[in-house]
Formats: sequence, structure tokens, C-alpha cells
Amino acid sequence: MSGSLFESALSQLDRAVHVQSFDAAFLQSLRQPNREIRLSIPVVLDSGQTRFFRGYRVQYNNMCGPYKGGIRYHPATDMDEVRSLAFWMTLKCAVMGLPFGGGKGGIEADPKALSVREIEQLTRGWTRGLSDVIGPEKDVPAPDVGSTPREMDWIADEYHVCVPEDLHPRAVVTGKSLAWGGSLGRSTATGDGGYILFEKLNAYLQMEPELCTVAVQGFGNVGQQIAERFHRHGYTVVAVSDSRGGIHHAAGLDIKAVIEHKEATGTVRGFPGAKEITNAELLELECGLLVPAALENQITGENASRLKAKVVLELANGPTTPEADEILLKKRVVVVPDILANAGGVTVSFFEWEQNRRGEAWSEEVVHSCLRETMENAFQAVWECKKERDCDFRTAAFLVALTRLESGFHRAKL
Ligand code: NAD
Repeated sequence: MSGSLFESALSQLDRAVHVQSFDAAFLQSLRQPNREIRLSIPVVLDSGQTRFFRGYRVQYNNMCGPYKGGIRYHPATDMDEVRSLAFWMTLKCAVMGLPFGGGKGGIEADPKALSVREIEQLTRGWTRGLSDVIGPEKDVPAPDVGSTPREMDWIADEYHVCVPEDLHPRAVVTGKSLAWGGSLGRSTATGDGGYILFEKLNAYLQMEPELCTVAVQGFGNVGQQIAERFHRHGYTVVAVSDSRGGIHHAAGLDIKAVIEHKEATGTVRGFPGAKEITNAELLELECGLLVPAALENQITGENASRLKAKVVLELANGPTTPEADEILLKKRVVVVPDILANAGGVTVSFFEWEQNRRGEAWSEEVVHSCLRETMENAFQAVWECKKERDCDFRTAAFLVALTRLESGFHRAKL
């Protein structure tokens, strides 16, 4: 697996265990997934032809609870990517103290090129293929790139058809629509959690909103939420982008209007009054805060030295390569790591799972205050570890997660 994303993920682990030692057998258990499943999913296309799509589920580790992790619909997804994302989910759930392990799923498909009926058939096929290994106490999927509450509702429905004896079939998947047992606050949870973390960090950094400009790469579910939150709190969001390119306006973008423009045209490009820039240019803009919210491997050994941001808030998973991490550390850029920064989504997913299993529906206020408390506690644990070990943020987050996972490993052996 030379040069793979998974190899990069494991090098983050190697870096952390250099700072603090852990049980050798435990570390060995973390270096490979428990199970990897490949599916071939037949879909009768609208044209009448049958096409077979590749599907994946990686059940990485369940020492702390059922496997948990989203499902990505993307033409370039593959087992290496899904495995890496499942590894990070294991650490993310542990750093947040959630009773979940780590998993991830994927379907090699471009949802933009498929009809709604085709996507539904694909989603139901993926669920049927996995119905004996997923379940509220086994493995609980959620949305990721290219998937939304609509797909989660289909997963819940298809699982119920396949496993009618399950008492809490809706708890098989989180990120559902409210009508299907979704939680209030879930659709904005990743952005909300990221903003809460930034507030905690900024209590130390003291960056003034009026003086702190923000650039956001990726303008989907997560990118729109975080841009909107910074905009609402008085920060100047100077640039956003999607897969087709970016826009820049030094005086600040009206984020609500950009969201409307994207909804109407399918892209942020062409937004009136803004200058068009490339995704590469966005990353290198003069700004206080850079928020990667698209895909992995965006900040690399090649471009990291040209970044001008003081803080990188990783809302995407794996946006910074290990080479870039080294460069940013030397430049004293604060990188808030993905496994902490974007954990708001899985945290509210945990609340949704709890509500489904208990037959409850929590108010938005309860969800928000539980999210705030969980994010703040996790930040504090990582911040204290960072000070105590005198290490970078990512290493500290790994150490907090590894300490919790190690006790799960010893419990499982008893
Ligand atoms: P999404 O599909 O809603 O949006 C992805 C966005 O990224 C789109 O705007 C797309 O155009 C853009 N994009 C794709 N390739 C790009 C490129 N090369 N350059 C710039 N933009 C590009 O997905 P999402 O749910 O917003 O997820 C974004 C990131 O956040 C992913 O890394 C995902 O794993 C992570 N994440 C998502 C959640 C969640 O709850 N959805 C939770 C935690 C982490």
C-alpha cells in the first residue's frame, strides 16, 4: 500500500506513538481493519441496461461499540479511501468519548450522473448486500460526500424489509430526515461542532472576528454550514469553492446569497461581483482561517509552504498530508485536526441513535447543548494533552483517542 492514503493515516499513528507508548498488541490491532466487504450492486438504469457498481464497507474497529461511519458516493472512491476514513472514524469516536467504533462505506458512482430512481436502487442494493452485518448494535452508517438524508431514509427502509425482527430498525442508520426518525440539529451538526471548537480555540488565540478573514474549500453540506456560521458571527468569508472552482471577494461574500446562487446554478462560480479563482488559489489566499471542507489530500508537501492562513480548521477528513503537517508545524500554523474538528456530525448521530433506541425525540435546544458540552469537553481533553506533552494538535487528539481505545482493547480481552 505504498504511498496510499491509508499509509498516510498510519503515519499519523506512528507519529503519536512516538510521543507516548502503548501496548504493542493493541497498536497492532489498530493497524488493520477487522473486516472489509466488497459488493457488486446491480442497477437497472433508466435506459434499460443493467450496470454493476462497486460498493464497500470497512468495519475497522469495534472495541468501543458498534462500527460507525458514513457512506460516500463518489466516482473516485475505493477501498484505500474507505479504509482510511474508517480508521479515522475509530479515532474520532474515541476522542469524542462516544460508545462507537469506526467504520465507513462507499459506492463508486457519480450521483450527479444518475436519476433519483437509479440512486434509490443503488442505495437499496448496498443495504441489502450488507443487511446481515449492519444493525443498531452492529454497524450504523450515516451520510458523507454525495449522500443526504434521502439516502439514509432508503437505508432504514430497506434494512427493515431485510431484518423485520429488529426492534429498533431506524437506529440502523443516522442522518435520516425528521420524518424517518432523524434528529433535530443533525443536518447542521458538523458545522455547528466545528464552530464551537473554533470558539474554544479562539478564547486562546484572540483573533478578532472583524480582522479574521475566512476561506472555505468545498461548498456542500459541511462547507455551506461553516461558511454561514462564520458569516453570521461577524467574520468576513472572503472565498468559497466547489469542485468546479472558487470565488473570491476581499470585502466578504454574502453567504446566504451564495447558497441561493449555488442552488439555482449548481455551482458557486458566476456569483455576481466576485472574482473567479481556482481551488489551488483559494488554499493559498491571504486569510486568518482556512477551512478545508471538500476531500482529502488538498494541503500537501507541494503547496503547504505557500499557505498564509494562521489556523486550518479541518472539516474535511484527511485534507492535510503528513508532509504538509510538518511544514505547517514549522510555520507555526495551528491545524485543528479532522478527528476533533469535524466530530460534531458523529456526535449528533450518536444522539439520533440514542433517541431511536429509546423512542424519544429531543428538542433542538437539548441537542445543541449536549453537542456544545461534548465538543467542549473533547477540546479541553485534547488541549490539556497538547500542553502536557508539548506536541501538535493532531498528535494530542490521537493520544487522547488511543488512551481510550487502549482501555477498550484491554476490556475486550477480559
Ligand atoms: P458534500 O458532498 O455535501 O460536499 C462536498 C463539496 O466538496 C461539494 O461542494 C463539492 O463540489 C466539493 N468538492 C469536491 N471535490 C472538490 C475539490 N477537488 N475541490 C474543491 N471542492 C470540491 O459532502 P460533505 O458532507 O459536505 O463532506 C465534505 C467533507 O466533510 C468530506 O471530507 C467529509 O468526509 C467530511 N465530513 C462530513 C460530515 C457530514 O456530516 N456530512 C461529517 C464529518 C466530516
